[in-house]
Amino acid sequence: MNKVFNTRYLVHLVLAGLFSFLVFNLTYAVRPSDYDLKEGDTTSASGSDDPDVYIINEHGYKRLFLNPVIFNFYGHLGGFAKVKAISPSTRDAFITSGLFRNCEANDEKVYGLESTGEDTSILHWINTTGAQAVIDDPNFFKKVFCINNNEFNWYLKGSDYNSVNQIPVYSRDTTSTSTVRVGIIEFVPQNVVYGDVHYAYLKKTSGCWLSSGGEIGNYYWVSGSNQSIHSSDCYDILETYSFLDIFNNLSKGISKNVQRTIYGEEDTMETLHSVYYIKDFYEKEALKYGVSDLAIDIDVKGPYMLASDPPLGGRWGVGEGVCNASLTEFFVNEAISRGVDESQYDVIAYVYLGDWQLSGRSYEGFTSCATGSKSFMTVTTWRLPQEDEGVVTLAHELGHSFGASDYYTSPCPQNPTLWSCVKDPEGIPEPNKIPKYPQTKGCLMAQIIAYNKPGSDEAGDATSISNLNQAVICDATAREFGWR
Ligand SMILES: [Zn+2]
Repeated sequence: MNKVFNTRYLVHLVLAGLFSFLVFNLTYAVRPSDYDLKEGDTTSASGSDDPDVYIINEHGYKRLFLNPVIFNFYGHLGGFAKVKAISPSTRDAFITSGLFRNCEANDEKVYGLESTGEDTSILHWINTTGAQAVIDDPNFFKKVFCINNNEFNWYLKGSDYNSVNQIPVYSRDTTSTSTVRVGIIEFVPQNVVYGDVHYAYLKKTSGCWLSSGGEIGNYYWVSGSNQSIHSSDCYDILETYSFLDIFNNLSKGISKNVQRTIYGEEDTMETLHSVYYIKDFYEKEALKYGVSDLAIDIDVKGPYMLASDPPLGGRWGVGEGVCNASLTEFFVNEAISRGVDESQYDVIAYVYLGDWQLSGRSYEGFTSCATGSKSFMTVTTWRLPQEDEGVVTLAHELGHSFGASDYYTSPCPQNPTLWSCVKDPEGIPEPNKIPKYPQTKGCLMAQIIAYNKPGSDEAGDATSISNLNQAVICDATAREFGWR
């Protein structure tokens, strides 16, 4: 596959069922340093409707001090004078934990806090083994906060919990929202060259390069003039769209009536999607799983012109890229210097629009990768007819930020001569189709439509998803999202 390689990174879900008010389980922990904070900092979103004071830990969790009495049990923290003012969105980036241990008494027992009123709570011993707790919640011990004798004794004690799954979500925040705020921050090299695409009428076939097996009198999307493979005596060009006209199209793309047979189906309306269509894609897919309250808010910034090439990202050719620090820092700093406020977003995609095929520049972009709530990708400004591969890549990488793993493997385990193949069954959208192959759609997190059994080494084994219309959110991914 000639795609930019993708990478997988995810931190697994936290107490999945309990966060069902979130449509995605966007509950990976953040790094305090991302917010200029460190372990042990006391914080408050002063000026907001929630003036509560929290302390954060190095794992990206916070605990609430229920009231001033409890806060004053910890004089060494410096009192209210030492509390750092943070924004409500920074406060919310740290997941509130209600797990405590009396470290002063060297008590190994972990307790869960049940809120019983505005400023009152009850502690319950979580009577389960440490091993079972980690099975139930891999991040269990990262969420445990030390308390002292005074605080421990302040609480009433309730009946034991027998499982991690009995712990209530401990948070005062009663506002639950299912709106996921996605920031797409775009960058371009200097003197960027955008490709374009024509909507055109075929008037002659002889001596013409026909990308779509065309017939005279039919309408097609055809490659634009920058790619210079279509002569104007073959086509009447009706409309021309530059890459950005489509990629950042506020109407979510451009649809045209065309005559073209793709994948055995006659399509009459062909849409080149824009990044804004990703909202519709996810909301429509969520509905298939009965999730009707997902709202994605997409905000595009840029494109901003870069003074220098980005560093190379992950490693090529190993199937799993890793976001390296120089790549992530490069884009985060570039964004900040443009006034982008990261705290406005739940997830952010940093998109480099690369033009090496058109400009001849030597820098070809970097390996796409995702880490936590951020993803970084190269999208080429070369847009072929009928394809919106860049939008597919973007939707895929955002999928990682929403908690999904990859459902392709590279190289193909069944046949290492193949670059990659679909994971069966996770990457097969229509497992009950008869015959099973060819599949007509691809799982977004596999990025591949399987035409034959994975690894069968037949010509046309699989093809990349080249238009978001061919992609679906498959069952295994829906589970990771918490959609089912
Ligand atoms: Zn991936």
